[in-house]
Amino acid sequence: MNAAPDESRQLLADLIAGRFPDARGRFGPYGGRYVPETLIPALEGLARGVEEHLHTPQFQQDFKQQLQSWVGRPTALTFAARLSQRWGARVWLKREDLAHTGAHKINNAIGQGLLAQRLGARRVVAETGAGQHGVASAAACARLGLPCVVYMGAVDMERQAPNVGRMRLLGAQVVPVTSGDRTLRAAIDEALRDWVADPLGTYYMLGSALGPHPYPYLVRELQAVIGREARAQMLAAHGALPDVLIACVGGGSNAIGAFHAFVPDPSVEIIGVEAGGRGTALGDNAATIVGGRPGVLHGAYSLLLQDNDGQVQETHSVSAGLDYPGVGPEHALLARVGRVRYESATDTEALSAVRELSECEGILPALESAHALVGAQRWARSHPGGTVLVCLSGRGDKDMPTLQETLLADGAREGA
Ligand SMILES: *Cc1c(COP(=O)(O)O)cnc(C)c1O
Repeated sequence: MNAAPDESRQLLADLIAGRFPDARGRFGPYGGRYVPETLIPALEGLARGVEEHLHTPQFQQDFKQQLQSWVGRPTALTFAARLSQRWGARVWLKREDLAHTGAHKINNAIGQGLLAQRLGARRVVAETGAGQHGVASAAACARLGLPCVVYMGAVDMERQAPNVGRMRLLGAQVVPVTSGDRTLRAAIDEALRDWVADPLGTYYMLGSALGPHPYPYLVRELQAVIGREARAQMLAAHGALPDVLIACVGGGSNAIGAFHAFVPDPSVEIIGVEAGGRGTALGDNAATIVGGRPGVLHGAYSLLLQDNDGQVQETHSVSAGLDYPGVGPEHALLARVGRVRYESATDTEALSAVRELSECEGILPALESAHALVGAQRWARSHPGGTVLVCLSGRGDKDMPTLQETLLADGAREGA
């Protein structure tokens, strides 16, 4: 889905100049607010709140303080020496796996929690698919003394039982969603319904850089700390920017957070890696930008996986965190103007990247993050001696049940 050259050039210039989202919450043709009338006042209130608080010195100071003392930021930048030798390129890892609760999601959760407090919310609602955002939300709310209700599809609650337990231990109420597809899509709908019932007393903590304006902007701003840190750390440790920056893309929050500070750097190539699942047929993957078409899902116009009648499709990925049929609108724009190249990695490729990083560097990556490693290995093959920076979005401990069934299953490995 590429734009005409002139239009594309203008969009890219606007993008680099930081003009998106515009006053209507759009990233070029994407984004906006495609929601029922009843949601508009709540979203307008939130947008006003974001404008009023997010960039004040007091908010930024509180946010920074929580990131340093509770989340554990800045997260390390690690040179992957043995992997570099194997791949023939210099590989650096931005270690979001070291952040509290095991992934980048906590940056967003604590930031939105601080915003909820400032807006006078008495309770927080959140949606969760695999449970990672639910855990981050529950932890952030506990930290700030905010009651937290997490909507989770009944199917997901069964698949992700340990995370349900974690959320409950962190004091959150987990509400099973039995409507719709009984997974993440239905959980988002339910959380939105709850929010509309009391938009002033309730704050909706959305988990990725998607949904109606102002969420894609808000989440980007809160996650942009990843790229700001990584950029400064690369300059300090390596003396130069990387040749390429690579992140995995589900809804798009770790990727947009990592990319944002690098988008204006013309020398830095940027690659997003989506879930290629078990194949390229509709329903076999979650590669939204690679295989999707424009449409509206969860309040924004973006790319999504749909059939010829516009029916949103079921997706498949071995990594639960990438298993979503939509993607944040800013990624749709970055793809359209060609600033970021999006590709996909299959389940099998991701699994073998988990093994390789674990054995080479003593780091067990999340299955989601392993998709970025696949992209990095591919890039290294065609750019010997180059420098690649990978956003390692999370740690793989949560994936042990899947890894037991795959990499550690009988016969999965010679001599096992
Ligand atoms: C949730 C998750 C993702 C995908 O979400 P984005 O919003 O695309 O970042 C990626 N990696 C990990 C470890 C996650 O938990």
